[in-house]
Amino acid sequence: MTAKAIEVRDVHKRFGSNEVLKGIDFDVDFGQVVCVIGPSGSGKSTLLRCVNRLEEPTSGTILVEGIDICDPETDLDQVRSRIGMVFQQFNLFPHLSVLRNLTLAQQRAKKRSKDEAVAIARANLERVGLSDKEDAYPAHLSGGQQQRVAIARALSMDPDMMLFDEPTSALDPELVGDVLAVMKLLASDGMTMLVVTHEMGFAREVGDKLVFMDDGVIVESGDPREVLGNPQHARTQLFLSKVL
Ligand code: ADP
Ligand code: MG
Repeated sequence: MTAKAIEVRDVHKRFGSNEVLKGIDFDVDFGQVVCVIGPSGSGKSTLLRCVNRLEEPTSGTILVEGIDICDPETDLDQVRSRIGMVFQQFNLFPHLSVLRNLTLAQQRAKKRSKDEAVAIARANLERVGLSDKEDAYPAHLSGGQQQRVAIARALSMDPDMMLFDEPTSALDPELVGDVLAVMKLLASDGMTMLVVTHEMGFAREVGDKLVFMDDGVIVESGDPREVLGNPQHARTQLFLSKVL
């Protein structure tokens, strides 16, 4: 049996006395786009951060490509190198050009030559529609362009899967579409994606599965069109009535 991209089993996470994740179970298959929605504070970011071990679950199991990432024997750098992460804040290096933002980690962590790193960076800038910006500095780009650079940077590390934490939430409304278009392109290229988002249109159109979280639990999950169109639980209905 081949492993799934991500398997989350009965994951709990506690910060002091605050239990933020209360037994989370779900899978992401290779090539699947799974969207996670839910109110602020429901544990979405914590869940995503557990998946690449920026946080350590208090209990439970997370397998990434079949590898138990909570096993102390596991080489975390190796696992993380398979996972690209894009945050709400773009986290670009402000003092580096776009091209250098994309080549730095390739040269340091992947030990690529400068020429190779530049070639890969340029290919990924083209993919996100920013070939003409390689010499620009982040401050001279719009938020939407910065986020697309952040996506191109993550792609330049050849991840097997991408995690997105509200990638469009910090953007002016007119810039959201370009970022979603890039994410849609990635999805159609077969990228495995776990996406925390408030963009219900994206979830409906691109998502293979939608997960609704509230207060540290998955209240319901399933086909996005089903969950959005015909939510089964009162909490889901209440949340959707506020955002749709
Ligand atoms: P969401 O992304 O759904 O808004 P989060 O996962 O960011 O939710 O947060 C869930 C809860 O966990 C919140 O109550 C938050 O204050 C708490 N929390 C998140 N990170 C930490 C941390 N590092 N230390 C203590 N509490 C945290
Ligand atoms: Mg969050």
